[in-house]
Parts: sequence; structure tokens; C-alpha cells
Amino acid sequence: MNEDRANPRTLAIHGDHDPSVADIAPPIHLSSTYRAADSDEFARIAEADRPSRFYTRYGNPTVARAERLVAGLEGCNSALMFASGMGAVATTALSLLSAGDHVVAQRDHYMGTLRLLTEMLPRFGVSHTLVDQTEAGAFADAMRPETRLVIVETPSNPMLKVTDLAAVAALARARGALTLADNTFASPVNQRPSEHGIDLVVHSATKYLGGHSDLLAGVLCGPSGLVDRVWSQAIVLGACSNGFDAYLLLRGLRTLPLRVERQSETALTLARHLETRAGVARVHYPGLASHPQHRLAAHQMTAFGGVLSFELAGGGSAARAFVDALDLVANAVSLGGVETLASHVGSMWHAGAAEGQGAIPAGLIRLAVGLEHPDDIVRDLEHGLAAAQSA
Ligand SMILES: *Cc1c(COP(=O)(O)O)cnc(C)c1O
Repeated sequence: MNEDRANPRTLAIHGDHDPSVADIAPPIHLSSTYRAADSDEFARIAEADRPSRFYTRYGNPTVARAERLVAGLEGCNSALMFASGMGAVATTALSLLSAGDHVVAQRDHYMGTLRLLTEMLPRFGVSHTLVDQTEAGAFADAMRPETRLVIVETPSNPMLKVTDLAAVAALARARGALTLADNTFASPVNQRPSEHGIDLVVHSATKYLGGHSDLLAGVLCGPSGLVDRVWSQAIVLGACSNGFDAYLLLRGLRTLPLRVERQSETALTLARHLETRAGVARVHYPGLASHPQHRLAAHQMTAFGGVLSFELAGGGSAARAFVDALDLVANAVSLGGVETLASHVGSMWHAGAAEGQGAIPAGLIRLAVGLEHPDDIVRDLEHGLAAAQSA
């Protein structure tokens, strides 16, 4: 199969094809270690970059298939799978940065990424500047001679703000800094950052890539030189994945394009519905014409993803009453699974937002749309809205 030309739906099913095995479904390699034919082969494998049959922290045949498939979907030539999305983000940062380096990142990021930047990396002498991602000029202003890495996340958690990928990629390249995009919310179905010049793409594969709320994993994608550099540190840090999780990831990836297309459609339907409802002060979804960056989102995304957030006019007490009144929709963190989840962001983050985090409205609800029929989700949201009104 010509992987360069295949439609993503075809690639998701055939992009990891291994002609050496007859199995239609990928075999699960559970072995932690592998027998070498002789001492020469042992010595050769022990020295090789990314061997898939040596020791599973170094690589694994099922993991290698999942990596090949995600790399293909992202339009990158290499990928590395991790035990979680944070395993991927933290290992990448620790691999590429040294004391004295500076990172430019956004005010709005996944909480774990913000804590890595503001709490952990400073202990190792790595400084940061957090900027308003909606202003490409803010990234340029924050760059210093010692800036080595620019991290972006678009659309971002939980306000669905958009970053101009091409503009940030171009300015970072001109200053000799690498760019890393967290593409978890969009998924490669809706957005491929490498096509806009971004160097490295990271995913929490726990979300859309896995897609069934039964797997924790992360993936880094990029050019093989950079990914191999991260691999050489990843085997020291140890946040590696395994054959069983790689199998679950492959199983989820087969339906990724179908799932994300439908989730994006339903999210747009729900966002439009919520905009018409009394008691909803504002809906944040890049697919809405009312989103301040809708044109940029439409330029760099094919659809707008399955996550939206909205502000209840009644604030925190209305938001708590809203989630308590839901029945079909579960009050749970995470996103990207087949089931719709809602969470009150303020309750999740009340332990104290990380330094730099933009203000979160008290009545903000994040909705991660699943694959149920939209009419059934709307009916459940209406229970929540009624309860929020009388809270
Ligand atoms: C969930 C998430 C992460 C962290 O991934 P884990 O798999 O939970 O470690 C990172 N970035 C984004 C945008 C996420 O949603």
C-alpha cells in the first residue's frame, strides 16, 4: 500500500501492515525480553537504535506497529509510544532541554504540562515564559537567545483557544528553537501540525487515539533524528509502553477517523444548541462562528473536535447542580472516549491553578462529546440546565 497517498480512513486500518505476519489482527507481544541467535547478533541488537526485539523498555514489536501507524496518521516519519501523555510530554522536555535553556509556552495548557514548566523544570535550571496563545506576536516577544523549545496546544484545554501553528512554527524556526504541539484535542483527523511546520507532535493517546476509556498512553511524533534522541533518554526515564497497551491503541486507531468525524459533528450540533439556551452565558467551540478565532481554526483544522466548554450564568453553584442532574452523561474527567463526559472545571482545578494559568470562569463546564445520538445527549443536558436554573 502506498501510505503517502492513502486516505486517513484507509491508513488507520492498513498503515501498520507487517508483511512478515499472516495475522489479520496484530499479535500482542508480551515478552519483556528476546532471545538472540548468537553472541554476534546479541551485540549488534544491544547497540542498535530502537531495537524492537531486545528488551521491552527499548522497544517491542506491537509497540513498533502502533508507533508506525500514529506516525503515518500525523504525516511524520517516526513516533515513540509512552505509558501516558504526560510520560510523552515530560520525557520529551527532559530529553531536549538543559540547564540554562528557556521555553516559551502558553498560559493555557493541560495542567500537567503547566506544572512541568512552572514547578519541575525550574528545579533543573530551565526557565519559561507563558504567553497568550491567541496573539502570534506574543510568542515572538517572549523569545530569547536561549529559547530552545516553543510548546503549543490547540485547541487548548479548557477554553478552546486556538494557536496559529504556521506563524509560531515560522518564528521559532527563524530563531533556532524547536516547536512541540500537543495535538490531543484535535487528533490527526482534524489537524496535522507537521503540515504547518511544527517539529514535534505529542498526544495523550488515552483520549481520541485510544478512544474507549480503557487505555493510558502517549505518543510523540516527528522526524526520526529528533525522536531517536528522545528515545535515547526515554529508556533512562522509563515511561515506556508495552505490547498489550499497544494492541489496545491499534484497535482504537482503526476507527479513529470515523469516531472523530462523528464526534466533531455532534459537538457542533450541541454547541449551536447550547448557544440558544437561557442560562448559558457563553459557549466556547472553535466551530462556532461566534468563536473569536473561528477563521484561523477553519484554516488549520478540517473539523473542530469533540470537546466544547460553556459558562453557566449561575456560576459555580449552577455548574455543580448541572453535573449532579445529568444521567446519561457521566461526571468524569478525560475526553475522547465513546461516552459523553461532563465536568465542572472549577471543581477539578480548585486545588489551585498553576502559575500563569488564565482565569477559569466559575460556571465553566467542559463537555467531551461521545458517540451517543445527539438527541439523547441534548435531552440529558436539558435536565442539567433545568437544575442549574433553579440552583
Ligand atoms: C490528558 C491530556 C494530557 C495528559 O495525558 P495522560 O495520558 O493523562 O498522561 C496531555 N495533554 C492534553 C491536552 C490532555 O488532554
